[in-house]
Amino acid sequence: MLAEFFPSILELIVKTSTELPPDVRAAMRVASNIETPDTRASQALNIINVNIDQAADGEGAICQDTGMPTFEIHVPRGADQLWMAEQIRLAVAEATRRGKLRPNSVDSITGKNSGNNLGPGTPVIHFHQWANDGIEVKLLLKGGGCENCNAQYAVPVELAHLGRADRTLEGVRKCILHAVWQAQGKGCSPGAVGVCIGGDRASGYAHAKAQLFRTLDDVNPDPTLAELEAIVMGTVNRLGIGTMGFEGKTTLIGCKVGAMNRLPASFFVSVAYDCWAFRRLGVLLDAGTGAITQWQYRDPSTPLVPMADQAGFQRTGREISLTLGWGTVARRTRSPRTLPGRRLGLHRLPDHAHSGQPHRQPAQQDRARPRCSALDQDRPRCRLQAGPMSAGEPHRWTQMHTDKPARLNWKDHSPSPRPSGSVSICVHLWLYCLVRAFCPDFTKR
Ligand code: SF4
Repeated sequence: MLAEFFPSILELIVKTSTELPPDVRAAMRVASNIETPDTRASQALNIINVNIDQAADGEGAICQDTGMPTFEIHVPRGADQLWMAEQIRLAVAEATRRGKLRPNSVDSITGKNSGNNLGPGTPVIHFHQWANDGIEVKLLLKGGGCENCNAQYAVPVELAHLGRADRTLEGVRKCILHAVWQAQGKGCSPGAVGVCIGGDRASGYAHAKAQLFRTLDDVNPDPTLAELEAIVMGTVNRLGIGTMGFEGKTTLIGCKVGAMNRLPASFFVSVAYDCWAFRRLGVLLDAGTGAITQWQYRDPSTPLVPMADQAGFQRTGREISLTLGWGTVARRTRSPRTLPGRRLGLHRLPDHAHSGQPHRQPAQQDRARPRCSALDQDRPRCRLQAGPMSAGEPHRWTQMHTDKPARLNWKDHSPSPRPSGSVSICVHLWLYCLVRAFCPDFTKR
């Protein structure tokens, strides 16, 4: 049996969660270089770049939401797919135990987190047979915030501000722009979109997501779609949405479009939005041993160039590293208001009043709010630990909050009826005084 299969899959998961592929790093570097210095977008990009470096240096998760693990596997004829699927599930559980993946699999009825990323539908594993000898495993980790920003249009459709989108390439272009506009501030831009023209509702979304396995710098072999991709990229980065919705020059780092046949009565345009934490890697495995014979999307022999230095963070050589002890972790876990990593940084960015930039009314008032976090039960409008975290953040913190059951009754938005700690102490003191006043012998007894 493939003795190296399990460690190879585990390594793939760890690398995918902690190291952005070179094409995404290159695109983010371009975004950083062209951004106007000292703007909120450029500061947000700097923070993102530091985060990317920290994740790679410390082999920590790039973002607190490690996403839905989606495996696309090509196997030769005769491969034991049931055994491989079981080994992949074991590797996912082990990566979760090691803190490389956040426990992200929640029972949709009870709200209980399985704690190990295993459960019905988690992880997603798709097998395909091919004529080659080796095994190819590709992995995409797509966070919940950007997944929430996916969109599907049944054209013809009337789109706000864009008018009618017809069953033409111009209509498709309008749908893509509308999806990106709707995603602003929610999907952690700059992002990338995979698009499918046609198919049915289910296959359209799947094909759109499959486009995210293309590298950002490839050219579509279909000249019509290549032209559409170029047109979208030329338009979308002039919308001014920018990094994290802070305005700026880069809203998308990639647009990849595919097409499928459709039913005569249907014309779907499906858009899969992925955030800057665009985690996808792949491996080729030896069909006899399961050992990695080649990495895809990355070259392990090429050292990573730090992102932050390219973004204006000059390293002095006198940097120190801080180590958090377990006591520190315990204090932080007690405070749901503690905002870790990059979200803390985002809160410190200057607002419009101090930046001197002209104020543009966002389409959504909460445009600069990352969305991959768990909801606070007692404060439904408040999210716990939203946004990408610094790579070294302890994962116990995340688990504590994602373990909370989901709120199924969306109308029940009233604050928790439980008295707070200080209120209950006051009540008990009052009772004690009343008893002492009216029944002095009671306490003696
Ligand atoms: S918090 Fe933002 S960066 Fe992280 S996975 Fe979610 S959408 Fe992506």
